[in-house]
Amino acid sequence: MEIGKRIINIAIENGATLAGIASMETLKVSPSHTIYRKLGDYKGIGTVNDGDTLPDNQLFNWPDSVRSVLLIALSHPEEKPEMDWFDGKGSPGNRFLIDIIRRTSLRIESDLKIQTRKLHYSVEKGGLFLKDAAVLAGLGCIGKNNMLVTPSHGPRVRLRALFMEDNINSTGPIRFDPCADCKALCRRVCPEHAMDDKAPIFKLAQFSEHLPGRDGAYNRERCNLRMEKDVAKSSKKNSGKDLTIKYCRKCEFICPAGKKFKI
Ligand code: SF4
Ligand code: SF4
Repeated sequence: MEIGKRIINIAIENGATLAGIASMETLKVSPSHTIYRKLGDYKGIGTVNDGDTLPDNQLFNWPDSVRSVLLIALSHPEEKPEMDWFDGKGSPGNRFLIDIIRRTSLRIESDLKIQTRKLHYSVEKGGLFLKDAAVLAGLGCIGKNNMLVTPSHGPRVRLRALFMEDNINSTGPIRFDPCADCKALCRRVCPEHAMDDKAPIFKLAQFSEHLPGRDGAYNRERCNLRMEKDVAKSSKKNSGKDLTIKYCRKCEFICPAGKKFKI
């Protein structure tokens, strides 16, 4: 069996819902990596602690030995919202993703003799733009909701990656565009109107269907406002008990891709 298929099979056997492979060469020139430095402060709620970030000249300075990246997606269905609830340290779904990566890394190294490297979730701590990587690996496309949208599960997945020190053939991108025939339900449902207009940075960028929000119509700061409201509503703030933050997922749940259409 071809080596890429064996790697993907190992990831699926370890619990990944979807898996694919992208080359580092294409990732280094992907849209988010290209425009990152023009975005200003891109840190989102809960992603990075100040003082713990890489200096600007070290961003995306991955080791030369890393040639490919394995992308895994884990299904986060609407029926299991607790997978995505943040408890102060992370979420159950993210912990499962980390464990899948750990076990997959061990198997790739022992069975296939390919060296792997784990990477941080945040780009500011040495990670990569997971959605760009997932598109290049053929897992789906960037939807008008600014999320990765997959053919089988729509945007209801979460991502994680593993560096590999070997050239493995990319498994994407694929031809898939559910937004072309959709009335942009995600944009209409957003309580913060985060996808109503083009963010200033994207007014400067040349149009690309791979830009965040597809056409630049995505304002992260407005979505962050919602996240701050969700934090304020959390159980700890209200009851003093364990912290549980249930972040907004309206633009994700309404997306018809990957599920029977219903409103
Ligand atoms: S709701 Fe429609 S426009 Fe929005 S991401 Fe899903 S398919 Fe695309
Ligand atoms: S998560 Fe909520 S606030 Fe953020 S863009 Fe989606 S619908 Fe809007």
